[in-house]
Amino acid sequence: MIPLEADWDRAPSLVDGAMSVELTPQQANLRYWLSSVPQGTLLGRPDGHDPALTVPEFMRSPGPLRDALIAEYAFRSVAEEKATRALSYLVAIAPDTDTMEFYATQVLDEARHAMVFRNHLLSLGVLAENLWQAIEKFAGADVHAVLDPLEELGLEVMRDDADFLGGVVMMTIIIEGALAPAAELSERKWRPLDPAAAEIDRGAGIDEIRHLTVGAAVAKQYLEAHPGEKDRVLELIGRGMHLWTVLPVHDLVLRREVLFQRGLEQHAHVVGDYEIWPGRRLVDTTPEERAATADEWSTEMKASRLTYIGLEDAL
Ligand code: FE
Ligand code: FE
Repeated sequence: MIPLEADWDRAPSLVDGAMSVELTPQQANLRYWLSSVPQGTLLGRPDGHDPALTVPEFMRSPGPLRDALIAEYAFRSVAEEKATRALSYLVAIAPDTDTMEFYATQVLDEARHAMVFRNHLLSLGVLAENLWQAIEKFAGADVHAVLDPLEELGLEVMRDDADFLGGVVMMTIIIEGALAPAAELSERKWRPLDPAAAEIDRGAGIDEIRHLTVGAAVAKQYLEAHPGEKDRVLELIGRGMHLWTVLPVHDLVLRREVLFQRGLEQHAHVVGDYEIWPGRRLVDTTPEERAATADEWSTEMKASRLTYIGLEDAL
């Protein structure tokens, strides 16, 4: 039996799931992952989507829509690869078997995300021999401006300081927590235009429910056992949140949405009356509205996770 939160058809959305599902590392160990993920969520979807779904021709032709998806997936592929490498330090310093197994599975999840985003660039017509050049061209500047500083802070905590709790909180609250809502937005907006991409996002979103909820449970349990570390972790969250205020994330998201908007206008007939969320047609939304909605989700999710962990003082 595949648990509800990992079932392709029955799992909640990422934003709902991250705020409603409760999952601990004792439950979500290696055995859980083997039966729920490779033999559950991903069964029959080796590339992250139903193999019968092909990319529509208009997504492969030059234009703002294709540019928007290439820029987005190039950026996210690099983000996932950086996460994979950084998280391996948490495997090394995990204090017990359950958390070690959970982070080992998360390392594989993130490596898979990097792979499916990267490979989808090939489906969009990027040539394999130009893949890394294309990633640098479409996302290099954003990677250097946004991801490199986040990676640096993450590695300082997880690799240099070998700080397990700090690393867990860094990933759950600061890094993944802040990037996750953009992933949900992506799934919703690409659904009518590139259904294969939407499925890639759906699969990554289901994994992300697990990463955020188990990560929060790991931090909560650890903090209950080591209450003396609370102030130190609050300070670290403060550093992370400050970093977000100085990184040009808002610009990046808005630029992405503006490009998407130009493509959306060209292909409005394909999107038709599709609703991005209940009662709101995608074709009626604006870049600002979509970016602001993802921002709202981010704030809500962060507050709910911090409260669950017992770190509401950070708010
Ligand atoms: Fe991921
Ligand atoms: Fe993740």
